[in-house]
Amino acid sequence: MIIKDVLCPFCGCLCDDLAVEVENNKVVDVKHACKIGASKIRGHDRIKAPMMRDDKNGEFREVSYEEAINESARILAKSKRPLLYGWANGLCEMMKKGILLTEEVGGIIDNTASVCHGPSALGVHEKGLPTGTLGQFANRADVVVFWGCNPVQAHPRHMGRYSVFNKGFFANKGRRSRKVVVFDVRKTDTANLADEYVQVKPGEDYMVLSALRAIVAGKGDVVPDTVGGVPKEKLAEVAETMKAAKFGIVYFGMGLTQSRGKYKNIDNAVSLITELNAHGKHSIIPMRGHYNVTGFGNVCAWETGFINAVDMSRGYPYYNPGETCSNDLLMREEIDAAFIIAGDAGAHFPAQSIARMGKVPVIQVDPFHNPTTEMANIVIPTKVSGVELEGTAYRMDGVSLRMRKLVDVDFPSDEEVLDKIIAKVREIKGASS
Ligand code: SF4
Repeated sequence: MIIKDVLCPFCGCLCDDLAVEVENNKVVDVKHACKIGASKIRGHDRIKAPMMRDDKNGEFREVSYEEAINESARILAKSKRPLLYGWANGLCEMMKKGILLTEEVGGIIDNTASVCHGPSALGVHEKGLPTGTLGQFANRADVVVFWGCNPVQAHPRHMGRYSVFNKGFFANKGRRSRKVVVFDVRKTDTANLADEYVQVKPGEDYMVLSALRAIVAGKGDVVPDTVGGVPKEKLAEVAETMKAAKFGIVYFGMGLTQSRGKYKNIDNAVSLITELNAHGKHSIIPMRGHYNVTGFGNVCAWETGFINAVDMSRGYPYYNPGETCSNDLLMREEIDAAFIIAGDAGAHFPAQSIARMGKVPVIQVDPFHNPTTEMANIVIPTKVSGVELEGTAYRMDGVSLRMRKLVDVDFPSDEEVLDKIIAKVREIKGASS
């Protein structure tokens, strides 16, 4: 059986044109996906059963779901400062349950944006976001800028479907309809495909953005001969290209959000776009990584008023990035238990945070073994969302789409595990109050 219009549960492009062949309840072929997307759908070695261990250096022993869930609930219920982190590789339906569990245990809920596009959110708080959908950009953009991102490696079908090589309604000659500019500290594979590569000195993006703004505003005389390692003439050329666009789009990544300047870079980039809108139509959008990291921002905002790093210990949602993000709390050694679901803290957190996680009980809910498993005391395997479970996810541009179920498995869903942990936490807390 061929299942058409399948969505890919890997990156924020959320490609929705896949064709998956299923035989005897097994995925045997994946068409149209890139290699990383196809590999996720085909599946690889998964965790087969719940596991527990007391000593993190010891061996895991297989346990029942009931035992793993009850022990997880016990750890969370008795914790004074539990961190509930991840939430980007799962469906919106389970995120709601995660927020409910965080309320029940008075914990902090945070997602992977904390270590990637968190600064983008702060920039957006300050300046707003003149943005649109990938469909608009695909059909209209004639000037495409990638700043501090490398879609050839991280979002392999982005340039083919949405930004560079695709034929759009207005940009109907594909690659020949567009000028492509890449700003980056190194010549990436994406830069190799650009018309113009602008090499920025590490940490000097803010100054380059400021120089572009000055030139666009007609104040080029105040710009020095070189800014952030870029000659003024080159900046003037790029500014002219951007001003001449009928529809310009800037895609930005962690090269901008996680380098010096952080959220101020985003603030400055949004200001550049706003000013360019005096000349043509311009938009800007973050390149989101995990397939439903955007979904968590939406669900968390509906439920708490904030998009991540929400502290429920006061009995109401409190948000103060710099104080309530996962790594702030771990580095201050406040966290006394960690619940990691649909995200991999072990792979992405700095060493100091990992050291703290090594000292506290860690519960992992995930279908697959990853570096977080190495730090875990309890591991609870669940269904692979978008392959074994249907539900809602948000593409990087905020468009919500329905993920499909392709095969049946006996594993519980994230949502079912969360429901059971919530019920057990209530039972434990009810008995002790
Ligand atoms: S580009 Fe991203 S969403 Fe599209 S197939 Fe590849 S991994 Fe999946």
